[in-house]
Amino acid sequence: MKYLFLLLISISYIFANAHIFVYHRFADDRYPSANTTIKELTKQFEYFKANDYEVVPLTKILDKLEKKEKIPSKWVALTIDDAYKSFYENGLEIFKKYNYPFSLYVYVEASHKGYGDFMTWKQIKESSKYGEIGLHSYSHHRLQQFSHDALILDTKKAYDLFEKNTGIKPITYAYPYGEYNKEVKETLKNNFAFKAILNQNTGSITAKTDQFDIPRIALVGKVNIKHKLKYKTFDAQWIAPLVFPKDGILKNVHVNVDKKYKQLKLYITGEGWRDVPVVNGVVNIKLNTYLKRARTRLILGPDVFTISNNIINKVKIKKRK
Ligand SMILES: [Zn+2]
Repeated sequence: MKYLFLLLISISYIFANAHIFVYHRFADDRYPSANTTIKELTKQFEYFKANDYEVVPLTKILDKLEKKEKIPSKWVALTIDDAYKSFYENGLEIFKKYNYPFSLYVYVEASHKGYGDFMTWKQIKESSKYGEIGLHSYSHHRLQQFSHDALILDTKKAYDLFEKNTGIKPITYAYPYGEYNKEVKETLKNNFAFKAILNQNTGSITAKTDQFDIPRIALVGKVNIKHKLKYKTFDAQWIAPLVFPKDGILKNVHVNVDKKYKQLKLYITGEGWRDVPVVNGVVNIKLNTYLKRARTRLILGPDVFTISNNIINKVKIKKRK
């Protein structure tokens, strides 16, 4: 009996999966591919409420990750990228109504130069009474296209202007377009005092999640929130591909997984899902697939909700400034 209890505890520990979502625009039907209507937002918030999900500040999840403690599956954190005016004008009041905290990621150049669609520093400061605020770069470039020095310059500029105008030191960073690679991650992690960096890969947060590689699920348009909450992280170590193939032809997928699996599902952008065999904890398949998209997502898992993501981007490196 005692062992059964311990087994159940450890299973619930392994399978604890909190979720972090990312929104962009609110009640702004000019941009359907980035928009969430108030009706839809309310529907999602009602679902959280009716099903006992606890919407927590992101830092509460980060504290658990730091202590390597179990993160309750019923925890949800909400984030908003770009700091569009439509959040301040339409979205914020709903967050306030439900008393749901959020993390707002500021595209610093847009707010600082007063681009029409973006929140002013004053509005950002006002919003910070109800949520956390963090960095979303200075220039909103694709970070992989920056040289090492240019990335540091962009981030330093964003950091300094953010602190000067809000009085707050940003402790979290969200990648523009959710795009990054290992070098980008290491540069931000090693040169700035961020507690966390957030991507935009579908997945969940477990005690094993890397604080500098936090998955977020995008919520845009009409979504089935119940399905989004089903996503779980699948433990996998990607060996190949790690970069976009130079000739655009994907020749090999190589991933280490738990030995208990005999077969898994693999997704490749433009190709869809296929079943792949697992031999002694290794997926190693030869392919000859031309990748049509500059941004290709590979997903591996035992089912479509239990997944490990691997995104490879075709990158043109800009000249050093
Ligand atoms: Zn953005």
